[in-house]
Amino acid sequence: MHYQMLIGGQWVDTDERYEVVNPATGALVATLARGEVKHVDAAVDAAARAYATSGWRERTMSERADLIDSVAAKLAERAEELALLAAQENGTPVRLAQGLAVGYPIAHMQRFATLARSYQWERSVEDEDSASGSILREPLGVVGGIVPWNFPLLLAVWKTIPAIATGNSVVLKIDEKTPIGTTILAETLMEAGLPDGVLNIVTGDGDSVGEHLAGHPRVRKISFTGSTATGRKVMSAASNNVKQITLELGGKGANIVLDDADLDLAVDGSLWAFLVHAGQACESGTRLLVHDSIHDNFVSRLVARARRLRIGDPTDLGTDLGPVINPRQRDRILGYIESAKEEGATLAFQGTLDGPAFERGNWVPPTIFTDVTNDMRIASEEIFGPVLSVIRYNDVDEAVELANDSEYGLSAGVWSGNEKRAREVAHRLEAGTVWINDWHNLSGALPFGGYKQSGFGRELGPDALDEFTNQKAISIDRSGREARTGWGLLFGELTSEFG
Ligand code: NAD
Repeated sequence: MHYQMLIGGQWVDTDERYEVVNPATGALVATLARGEVKHVDAAVDAAARAYATSGWRERTMSERADLIDSVAAKLAERAEELALLAAQENGTPVRLAQGLAVGYPIAHMQRFATLARSYQWERSVEDEDSASGSILREPLGVVGGIVPWNFPLLLAVWKTIPAIATGNSVVLKIDEKTPIGTTILAETLMEAGLPDGVLNIVTGDGDSVGEHLAGHPRVRKISFTGSTATGRKVMSAASNNVKQITLELGGKGANIVLDDADLDLAVDGSLWAFLVHAGQACESGTRLLVHDSIHDNFVSRLVARARRLRIGDPTDLGTDLGPVINPRQRDRILGYIESAKEEGATLAFQGTLDGPAFERGNWVPPTIFTDVTNDMRIASEEIFGPVLSVIRYNDVDEAVELANDSEYGLSAGVWSGNEKRAREVAHRLEAGTVWINDWHNLSGALPFGGYKQSGFGRELGPDALDEFTNQKAISIDRSGREARTGWGLLFGELTSEFG
């Protein structure tokens, strides 16, 4: 298969092509047009034209919501196919892909459509003392999205659907490693009647095409998901025309097991927290903080459970763990594993990769280190692989201090049999999401986003659509007075109108 860019309703090809490679086998899955800066300019032109003339933003919210719902229903019919494609393009095990990589985006589309139906575009304000009028919400115009490869369909939905639900036009820059699911999303939106140019998809290298989009003077907002290092560049480029920005960046989730936790639950939950998609999820729980009194028992149960996980072919429904995205990422993760040994951590568990299936592709065995301290590289840097740092603590204050001792603040978790106690800890954690007795639950009802260098702005949750609208205040003087409040300050009659 060959995939192309979508600009102004036309599929656009290039002579130069990317290769999309199956991470499990190294086999060629597809090729992809390789966009350049000029394609960003063309896509922004098309989006601006669509914003001005396509009539999309004049449609009612329920018309736009109906279209989104119909697309969600079409994707749901193709869920198995989409999960299989996700397994092929980025190695997500197909069972997991059905839930997280495909099920979540469909559910989130439906939720965005529901939010759209009740969206409050105008609110009256009556304030007897000062002003009356209204607060309007308006679309921003042309907005840009930039996404990584790890959950491409999910992240494409988060960047595009709330934006088009609120009448904006979008230019989405996808990652060259994983174009397939997003192309199917775009095709389905077009088939459902989305006007040409409302959604445009470009490809290209991040430091040219991505940065050009982030700095483009006619783009009013950029919503970026990716690493913190790239987020800084996007933020700087976006300052060019003072764009609004949402940054969803990296994480180093602290997962705290209190001494009263249900250990069976917390053991499974801690593996779930760090191993989903071979650790290639930004909000993974990669630092496991275990109370000294249960530490050794907990670790031996964790290792026993990890031993039973099946690593292998991501297209097989029986597979628990797949490969990582590419050889570069594999080597980076293996480098972290070596650094942990050099820094004195204890290798408590490493899965085995036996057999011919592992001779090709990008495999990293699930790996658990104990005796980790927060200053080691594996505990402070985002690895984005199946590597867990177990850190021992003695009391809750120490656990909170260790958890917060990170420049990241995307996610955290607390396991406890006492919800009140867990909530008290949750309140003290510097993270955008804190799960209690769970992990990776992105229900759509709650906002998702970071503290500190994990970024800012929120996706999902009740206010998700606000991220793609401006507020306008309309202030009306209905006092009937000839001289309005405060005018005396200019015309010389000192009054006490301002109290
Ligand atoms: P990355 O930052 O290298 O790339 C992300 C996207 O940005 C890609 O499309 C890339 O082409 C583009 N890009 C690269 N350089 C750019 C530049 N100078 N200007 C504009 N765009 C540029 O990230 P990655 O390694 O592909 O993805 C993994 C990272 O993403 C991890 O750090 C992970 O934590 C993060 N992530 C965060 C979330 C979240 O919601 N917080 C979700 C998924 C992934």
